Amino acid sequence: MSKELNQNQIDEIYGLLIESKEKIEKNLKGISDSQDNLSSMDLNDEGDFAAASRDYNNDIHIKKQQLEELELINHALLKIKKGVFTGICEMCDSEIGMKRLRVKPYAKYCIDCRNHIDKK
Ligand SMILES: [Zn+2]
Repeated sequence: MSKELNQNQIDEIYGLLIESKEKIEKNLKGISDSQDNLSSMDLNDEGDFAAASRDYNNDIHIKKQQLEELELINHALLKIKKGVFTGICEMCDSEIGMKRLRVKPYAKYCIDCRNHIDKK
């Protein structure tokens, strides 16, 4: 039987989740600010415009990733709130492990299942 996280460990993950959430929200705000700038920017030659739109596409990509991450964080926070955050993989019922959770506090799956999903 897999060992569920104790309260101290959950508290630690909770802190990490809140920290990541704040960081992402700040990043997202930064990205939308720079998008506003792009449309109002005075772009003199094509080189400027190419560089700006490259940044812009890059921003969109980052933004998408950050939004996905934010969703996972909210999912994990909700689980903590409901008292069902256990640190157990949602797929195979083995422990995700504190080591992995410290790096990715919103991880839903253990590393084996994650690799399995990524391969698909
Ligand atoms: Zn698993």
